[in-house]
Amino acid sequence: MLKKLLSKFKRKEEKKYPNRFLKFYYENQQRLNKERRSTYTEKKDAGICVRCNKKALSGIVFCDYHQKKQINYNKKARLK
Ligand SMILES: [Zn+2]
Repeated sequence: MLKKLLSKFKRKEEKKYPNRFLKFYYENQQRLNKERRSTYTEKKDAGICVRCNKKALSGIVFCDYHQKKQINYNKKARLK
Protein backbone atom coordinates (compact mmCIF):
# COMPACT_ATOMS: atom_id res chain seq x y z
CA MET A 1 0.00 0.00 0.00
CA LEU A 2 2.73 2.43 1.01
CA LYS A 3 4.89 1.30 -1.87
CA LYS A 4 2.02 2.00 -4.24
CA LEU A 5 1.60 5.51 -2.87
CA LEU A 6 5.30 6.26 -3.16
CA SER A 7 5.47 5.09 -6.76
CA LYS A 8 2.46 7.22 -7.55
CA PHE A 9 4.15 10.26 -6.01
CA LYS A 10 7.38 9.52 -7.82
CA ARG A 11 5.64 9.33 -11.16
CA LYS A 12 3.92 12.65 -10.54
CA GLU A 13 7.23 14.27 -9.73
CA GLU A 14 8.89 12.86 -12.82
CA LYS A 15 6.21 14.34 -14.98
CA LYS A 16 7.10 17.85 -13.91
CA TYR A 17 10.88 17.49 -13.70
CA PRO A 18 13.25 14.93 -15.27
CA ASN A 19 14.67 14.18 -11.80
CA ARG A 20 14.64 15.43 -8.23
CA PHE A 21 17.93 17.26 -8.70
CA LEU A 22 16.45 19.37 -11.47
CA LYS A 23 13.34 19.88 -9.37
CA PHE A 24 15.51 21.19 -6.54
CA TYR A 25 17.45 23.37 -8.98
CA TYR A 26 14.35 24.92 -10.54
CA GLU A 27 12.68 25.52 -7.21
CA ASN A 28 15.75 27.21 -5.79
CA GLN A 29 16.37 29.16 -8.96
CA GLN A 30 12.90 30.66 -8.70
CA ARG A 31 13.49 31.57 -5.06
CA LEU A 32 16.93 33.04 -5.79
CA ASN A 33 15.66 35.07 -8.71
CA LYS A 34 12.92 36.50 -6.53
CA GLU A 35 15.42 37.49 -3.85
CA ARG A 36 17.78 39.00 -6.37
CA ARG A 37 15.01 41.01 -7.96
CA SER A 38 13.88 42.49 -4.67
CA THR A 39 17.43 43.54 -3.73
CA TYR A 40 17.87 45.10 -7.16
CA THR A 41 14.64 47.04 -6.83
CA GLU A 42 15.44 48.10 -3.27
CA LYS A 43 18.85 49.44 -4.28
CA LYS A 44 17.47 51.08 -7.39
CA ASP A 45 14.82 52.88 -5.37
CA ALA A 46 17.38 53.92 -2.75
CA GLY A 47 19.74 55.28 -5.43
CA ILE A 48 22.45 52.76 -4.60
CA CYS A 49 24.59 50.99 -7.20
CA VAL A 50 23.21 47.47 -7.77
CA ARG A 51 26.73 46.04 -8.16
CA CYS A 52 28.26 47.53 -5.01
CA ASN A 53 26.92 49.76 -2.26
CA LYS A 54 28.10 53.13 -3.49
CA LYS A 55 25.78 55.94 -4.41
CA ALA A 56 24.39 55.46 -7.93
CA LEU A 57 24.38 58.16 -10.58
CA SER A 58 20.98 59.74 -11.07
CA GLY A 59 18.85 58.02 -13.70
CA ILE A 60 20.90 54.81 -13.76
CA VAL A 61 21.37 51.91 -11.39
CA PHE A 62 25.18 51.98 -11.34
CA CYS A 63 27.79 54.08 -9.57
CA ASP A 64 30.42 55.93 -11.62
CA TYR A 65 32.79 52.93 -11.59
CA HIS A 66 30.23 50.31 -12.55
CA GLN A 67 28.65 52.54 -15.17
CA LYS A 68 32.02 52.75 -16.94
CA LYS A 69 32.47 49.01 -16.55
CA GLN A 70 29.03 48.39 -18.02
CA ILE A 71 29.75 50.64 -21.01
CA ASN A 72 32.94 48.67 -21.74
CA TYR A 73 31.08 45.41 -21.39
CA ASN A 74 28.40 46.53 -23.85
CA LYS A 75 31.06 47.63 -26.35
CA LYS A 76 32.74 44.21 -26.15
CA ALA A 77 29.43 42.40 -26.48
CA ARG A 78 28.59 44.34 -29.64
CA LEU A 79 31.98 43.60 -31.23
CA LYS A 80 31.43 39.85 -31.02
ZN1 LIG B 1 29.06 50.21 -8.15
